[in-house]
Amino acid sequence: MSLADLPPLREALAEHGLLAKKAFGQHFLLDLNITRKIARLAEVGPGERVIEVGPGPGGLTRALLETGAQVIAVEKDQRFRPLLDDLVRAAAPGALTLLFADALTADEATLLGGSGHVVSNLPYNVGTPLLIKWLTGPWTPASMTLMFQKEVALRITAPVGGDAYGRLAVIAQATSDAQGVMDVPARAFTPPPKVESAVVRLTPRADRPSAARLDVLQKLTAAAFGQRRKMLRASLKALGGEPLIEAAGLDPQARAETVDVAGFLRLADAWISARARA
Ligand code: SAM
Repeated sequence: MSLADLPPLREALAEHGLLAKKAFGQHFLLDLNITRKIARLAEVGPGERVIEVGPGPGGLTRALLETGAQVIAVEKDQRFRPLLDDLVRAAAPGALTLLFADALTADEATLLGGSGHVVSNLPYNVGTPLLIKWLTGPWTPASMTLMFQKEVALRITAPVGGDAYGRLAVIAQATSDAQGVMDVPARAFTPPPKVESAVVRLTPRADRPSAARLDVLQKLTAAAFGQRRKMLRASLKALGGEPLIEAAGLDPQARAETVDVAGFLRLADAWISARARA
């Protein structure tokens, strides 16, 4: 048996008596043309290591395996074990490894024994915490190609100044180059979700902030965007107020949504310098 001999995904689901479960955020991509397009956008190739979160019926997994990548698939729902075991048998020997676990607590560095890519049609209920985990380390993927609900995708790639610009944009763009690469309508999924979706591709920046700087950036963005209608001098009062804001070359009367990523990084540096002097 090879990948080409596998039954269509809809048939595989029926054969194993599997229906989508809402609690696991299950909305399946059963059209291999779409999953192949995502695998192409991920730009993974022969021998490259990929973690896929939530293989479910395995449509994206099949497409990733077709590229020759080595896939480690982390699935929380044990019901998929027999169906995914069929996929292990159809794949090249050693090409697909299954782990039945919660991706939120998975240790990617140990799983991969080094670097690798992440490609996933993410379960929407844990999409943002998983992204934050990969953006802030300690393990950093070589690239991430991830399906989110469209509204989250827009928050990741948002330019400064707009309503979608917030904590997620600052953390994502300080650490990565983030680009929306594909819109996917709700009807492409089984069952269709209530919202539209989009694929975002993120690659780590060479000047990625250190863990300590990222930690401060997270504190500052939480405070600044927690009260986004307030001026920085009010929202950042407890973290240093006007002296901190001025040391970063920013206007204390500015609001968080007008401060670009470089401005937030200067704030983090000013906070670290003030701490070192204290
Ligand atoms: N990749 C499949 C596809 O494209 O058809 C399924 C995508 S579905 C949106 C999300 C998948 O993630 C489901 O298979 C679900 O069981 C799995 N999942 C949900 N929460 C998870 C978690 N915390 N860790 C690992 N897998 C999870």
